[in-house]
Amino acid sequence: MDCIFCKIINGEIPSKKVYEDEYILAFYDISPAAPVHIIVVPKLHMGSMNDVNDGNIEYISQIMLKIPAIAQDLDLKEGYRLVTNIGKNGGQTVGHLHFHILGGRKLAKMG
Ligand code: 5GP
Ligand code: ZN
Repeated sequence: MDCIFCKIINGEIPSKKVYEDEYILAFYDISPAAPVHIIVVPKLHMGSMNDVNDGNIEYISQIMLKIPAIAQDLDLKEGYRLVTNIGKNGGQTVGHLHFHILGGRKLAKMG
């Protein structure tokens, strides 16, 4: 499958990793939108949150469980934003579910 994030997961495309276990991979975004910008992906291809189901929810649970520790390791104690874009109107450009961790400065109000 021609998926950039699957290629990052299997090592075909290099990335700067910050956390990895059997369910999830976290790595620096190539084009950061904040001083700290991390992408967190499930190690199972799914298009977006629209594709979450009983068969893959364990991957999402693991991501949600691990994000606070990842943020702590990145020294984001003043807070951060957690975002997932879904589809064209949501601004999604890579079709493999991912969560953005954005921080390192006070972020602008959304909307
Ligand atoms: P989206 O716009 O789909 O929510 O987010 C996709 C993100 O993936 C973007 O912030 C983009 O900079 C990042 N990205 C795209 N290709 C690569 C890549 O090859 N390596 C890394 N590290 N990030 C990527
Ligand atoms: Zn994929």
